[in-house]
Amino acid sequence: MSKDSCDGCDRTVTVSGGIANIWSFGTDAGTVGTAITLELDDGGSYLLCYPCLEALPDYPTDEDIDRLEQVDEETSRVGSP
Ligand SMILES: [Zn+2]
Repeated sequence: MSKDSCDGCDRTVTVSGGIANIWSFGTDAGTVGTAITLELDDGGSYLLCYPCLEALPDYPTDEDIDRLEQVDEETSRVGSP
């Protein structure tokens, strides 16, 4: 585990392992401070907290991740462009 900050919203997060951990989120959904590394099809790699992941579409692009900077910390809704 290591401390880092979310590439979307900049909040401090704890990285708890690889992509496989996404499946464990079902039991603690909404826990602030948990993040995974999301790898995009174009080769980009981003560290994202769970609320940011929730706000992204199924096949996010780096434009979607850019928009996460506008996410409201309470709701993690992606702001309108
Ligand atoms: Zn985030």
